[in-house]
Amino acid sequence: MAKAFFGGVHPNPMKDATCGKAIEKLEAPDEVVIPMSLHIGAPCTPVVAVGDTVKLGQKIGEATGFVSSPVHASVSGTVVAVEPRPHFNGTDGMAVVIQNDHQDTLSEDVKPVEHPESLTGEQLAEIVKNAGIVGCGGATFPTHVKILGGLGKVDTVIINAAECEPYITSDHRIMLEMPEQLIGGAKLLAQAFGVTVHIGIEDNKMDAVEVLRNEIAKEGASNIVVDVQHTRYPQGAEKQMIQAITGRQVPGGKLPADVGCAVFNVDTTAAIYRAVTTGMPLIRRIVTVTGSGTNEPKNLEVRVGTPLKCVFDACGGVKENTFKILMGGPMMGNAQYNLDAPIGKATNALLAFAGDEEKTVDHPVCIRCGKCVTVCPMHLEPLIMNMYASKNRLEELEAANVFDCIECGSCSYICPGRVHLVHNFRTGKQKINNQRAAAKAAAEAAEKAEAK
Ligand code: SF4
Ligand code: SF4
Repeated sequence: MAKAFFGGVHPNPMKDATCGKAIEKLEAPDEVVIPMSLHIGAPCTPVVAVGDTVKLGQKIGEATGFVSSPVHASVSGTVVAVEPRPHFNGTDGMAVVIQNDHQDTLSEDVKPVEHPESLTGEQLAEIVKNAGIVGCGGATFPTHVKILGGLGKVDTVIINAAECEPYITSDHRIMLEMPEQLIGGAKLLAQAFGVTVHIGIEDNKMDAVEVLRNEIAKEGASNIVVDVQHTRYPQGAEKQMIQAITGRQVPGGKLPADVGCAVFNVDTTAAIYRAVTTGMPLIRRIVTVTGSGTNEPKNLEVRVGTPLKCVFDACGGVKENTFKILMGGPMMGNAQYNLDAPIGKATNALLAFAGDEEKTVDHPVCIRCGKCVTVCPMHLEPLIMNMYASKNRLEELEAANVFDCIECGSCSYICPGRVHLVHNFRTGKQKINNQRAAAKAAAEAAEKAEAK
């Protein structure tokens, strides 16, 4: 069975500035702004009010549905506001603002599990749910839902340690500096699913491969294996990782569990370990801060809710001629326009770009070279989808399988015409979703009117 995925690109890794730098703990700021939406799914409802005293690890936002995940205080102190604040998704969203008392007084709810060796899959999912753990690789899908959805269906658990996006080194440093957390989390997942766990890692991180294999040997964890893969973007995309390790292809519209797989990110796995062994919910994140506009690139451990400005300040600030700031990598990251927005549960990188790196053009044009088709790992035809998207031909855009696009950015990267392909696919999907929602609302209104 073919294990290499189709397409992909080889961007310059650009990881040298931070891959050798140990993680530094950033002191928690005087004020944290914790959004009630730090996951895919329904936002949380605040369960604290202005004036309340809160402790580190205390729940401050309650999940509001099955696909939702609670939010916890990342510092101890006093709630000074519960109101909409700038979110890293570009909107204003409900947030709890906590004045930090710098005491880190621990919540009584934060306590380790007594017998982790006897946890069932359902019990692990409950712990993960209460700890607010979501996909830390960027997807932010609630992890307990993934565990529950996979029990009895999954025969292969994969830890996605590819970290294939340029610049980002946070997972790499976690593997080098906290291997016991990653292997400990992998053991818990192996126990929960009753299967072997594969750690998929690119061959540009052989130092981490050695550290992990040593840790596995030390733990005698024969049900955990490290699979080394060629370095190629987007090796770390979920479907591509599954194909690389198992040879199975996830059909369009289907989930990894449909082909017997469940994929977890490195920091997600470490967070599961911490939740079980210490009781600590997901309140911090390892963030790579780098790019030509960053004065002192670093890997930092940052509390969730820390304003982006504080993170850049800890790295000597950004250069004057910085023209772009991204949350995430250069291929899939989101532009940031307000440095008051906070660090989220899945913020793996902050990139600042300065000087003459701006590569956009005023009038991007498709020259029909076909390069985008040759690199698309999802076997799509980006140039055709772009034609439909730019002409608002939404039905044809959907028929061209735009919803199979994983927004990896390979087509935009290779495009000599500098066409904004991924941006056009994102907005195209949004328009189709809006159209569906409007049609549904109209049908419901008509039904109500008829019933009267
Ligand atoms: S790579 Fe760019 S220029 Fe070439 S066909 Fe695709 S969209 Fe057109
Ligand atoms: S069309 Fe989507 S999946 Fe294909 S290369 Fe472009 S961004 Fe990636």
